[in-house]
Amino acid sequence: MKNVTEILIGKNNGAHIPLIAGPCSAESHEQLRLTVLELIKIPNLIAVRAGVWKPRTRPGSFEGIGEHALHWINDVKQEIGVKFAVEVANSWQTESALKAGIDILWIGARTTVNPFYVQEIAEALRGTNVPVMIKNPIHADLGLWIGAVERLKKAGLNRLVGVHRGFFTSGTSVFRNDPKWEIPVDFRTFMPDVPLLCDPSHISGKRDYILEISQAALDLEMDGLMIESHYRPEQALSDSDQQVTPAHLKEIMSALIRREEIPTNSNALESLSQLRHLIDELDHEILHLLEKRKHIVETIGELKRNNNITVLQFKRWFEIVNDRSQLARILGLDEDVVLEIFQLIHRSSIKIQQQILQGKTSEV
Ligand code: PEP
Ligand code: MN
Repeated sequence: MKNVTEILIGKNNGAHIPLIAGPCSAESHEQLRLTVLELIKIPNLIAVRAGVWKPRTRPGSFEGIGEHALHWINDVKQEIGVKFAVEVANSWQTESALKAGIDILWIGARTTVNPFYVQEIAEALRGTNVPVMIKNPIHADLGLWIGAVERLKKAGLNRLVGVHRGFFTSGTSVFRNDPKWEIPVDFRTFMPDVPLLCDPSHISGKRDYILEISQAALDLEMDGLMIESHYRPEQALSDSDQQVTPAHLKEIMSALIRREEIPTNSNALESLSQLRHLIDELDHEILHLLEKRKHIVETIGELKRNNNITVLQFKRWFEIVNDRSQLARILGLDEDVVLEIFQLIHRSSIKIQQQILQGKTSEV
């Protein structure tokens, strides 16, 4: 897989933790210029982000300056010589950004949800080689996220990068958006050739959590970060609470640890491989046990079919839930995880027995 920096700016500048940073929105020529003059002091910076058109959830809040901000971006680019990334949400914004020579585009969470808009953007980009970052959709729907990447790929674009910005939450989380780390992990499994950045600003909603979320993302081998930064965060017209000053961002970047994938210490490497061997053996044992369990499930299925007994009996299922939860508690295991595992196993058993009762041979 290509390095994310190569994909986005066409060369690998060696940044250990590549960073895209800049204000939520371009608000004035001065704000943009003064912010960027500070941001370029951060060695990790590979490009500046700035929202020009802001898709806000509800009307009435600042919706971006619009096309005029593209002139400021051009001025700052000429003066300071940095690459810029801008969000586009439809075909005319895409055309306008391309005409203005914007280096990188991104598709926001409120656009990834809509295949019509994504397709429209993909068509507007056909024949170009512009890098595009695709944020996850607002809700935790991996299919829509992957689908958006596929639409761009089909239009011939191959400089693509995912951005994990968290998912809508009904308010029980301390964060503005729930990270649901399993979803970016699944994204990587399905799209191994598409690098992934994390946007801790939109996950957290609060500047105080940015370091912690960024570190969590790096520990899951994410390829870089996209962080909102404003030279005067408290005066920002959008997302004020989550923006950090460039100086603060520089501190955050130096506090982050890039852990190794492979231990450099040979003793640690040896112990890791021995422990992994034990895990492999245990996983195989689990699979053999599942196979034994499946045979019993099939025999029960036949017994149910021959004696006209229902496949699912809630009383029995609740007994299983209580018994396995209690044992999980005694063994010090996470009860919720154990319950999820048994839900999956039980679902599979129901499927096997349904097939037997319907006279089909089981393939599960
Ligand atoms: C943004 O990056 O400013 C933005 C609107 O983000 P998201 O699409 O992740 O909400
Ligand atoms: Mn924002």
